[in-house]
Amino acid sequence: MTQNEPKIAVGVLGATGSVGCKLVEMLSKHPWFTITALAASEQSVGQCYGDVVTGEDLPKEILQRRIEACEPNLPCQLVFSALDAHVAGDIEEAFARKGYVVVSNAKNHRLRDDVPLVIPEVNSDHLQLVKQQPYDAGMIVTNPNCVVVGLTLALKPLVDAFGVQSVHVVTMQAISGAGYPGMSAIDITDNVIPYICGEEEKIENEPKKILGTLKGDTIFPADMVISAQSNRVPVSDGHLVCVSVKLKTTATEEHIIEAWNTFSGVPQQLQLPTAPHQPIRYLHGPSPQPRRHRNIGEGMTVCVGQLRPCAIFDVKFTLLSHNTIRGAAGSAILNAECGVRLDILTFDLQSNVKMSSLTPQVSS
Ligand code: NAP
Repeated sequence: MTQNEPKIAVGVLGATGSVGCKLVEMLSKHPWFTITALAASEQSVGQCYGDVVTGEDLPKEILQRRIEACEPNLPCQLVFSALDAHVAGDIEEAFARKGYVVVSNAKNHRLRDDVPLVIPEVNSDHLQLVKQQPYDAGMIVTNPNCVVVGLTLALKPLVDAFGVQSVHVVTMQAISGAGYPGMSAIDITDNVIPYICGEEEKIENEPKKILGTLKGDTIFPADMVISAQSNRVPVSDGHLVCVSVKLKTTATEEHIIEAWNTFSGVPQQLQLPTAPHQPIRYLHGPSPQPRRHRNIGEGMTVCVGQLRPCAIFDVKFTLLSHNTIRGAAGSAILNAECGVRLDILTFDLQSNVKMSSLTPQVSS
């Protein structure tokens, strides 16, 4: 994208939820994308966006925009989906069939053989999978579960430098990960819930696809074993994860820290707008901590700390990633940026201009 090109018209499906609000906040300042549609469930349709969400810092034109139904007739070419998983599967499919590019946060299509599940620093080459999808101009691209993004990013330099055989993970996941309004205060205050529905399966399976190798049309999953235990804790944002790893070759702590701190990928090479300067950062001392460190790199840097020997595996450490930014909205936007720059997500920019003028707004 050059400065002179028109911005790409985008919509947000599920714009009123935890992830949707973060998408709207990030997209409202984006240099390449312009929001031309906000959509949510029937209970929100027709209302003014600013009356439904608490987004004081958003531009007036966004706060005044009317919320539309999630039907594939929105005035845009790309939709970011932050839909509840109960409805995301069918709605995203309907949009792709009608020719929309769908960049999704939801779990529904992530493990399909023809759908890329992408962290651009790790496997941007997997974006090629969209060519196998049964849609004409439309396509579906997904980003991983919110724990999986940080975990897989932290594992990638270890996989490349030393090989990873087994991983044991214990999560402490923030309340915002359960969506809005989420758990009742009475359930989570002064408490920890040792269960998150479906979470452990995602953590155990998704990294193997992302770290897998694309050969021809097929991804061969990474050969590693992952065991996960998930907990919901009374933290607002930021998932903290304790990880033990068995490596395939020996490594010193110094070499592991260097592998993390020097790691970068395609988004950094392409200087994508949402790419953090440093995707992984090692912090010394009693770190990382959610309240202190979740916004490092504008919420896109995964912080790692507490590296030490493990008496059962080889090493253990703690990692932190911002669940609604690196774990969701930020990753989705980075996927879209990467797809655009690699010419995999393509748009008719002339029709964008017409679409912007169709945008429904509530008169002030
Ligand atoms: P959320 O706060 O519950 O938001 C869900 C959104 O879906 C709302 O905008 C809601 O609209 C909309 N929706 C619900 N039912 C609908 C229907 N029948 N038709 C159209 N829209 C409907 O959830 P979230 O936490 O933002 O998560 C969104 C998605 O991202 C989920 O699939 C989740 O698993 C995934 N994800 C979440 C996180 C996280 O940290 N929260 C991280 C990674 C991935 P109304 O407000 O009008 O009901």
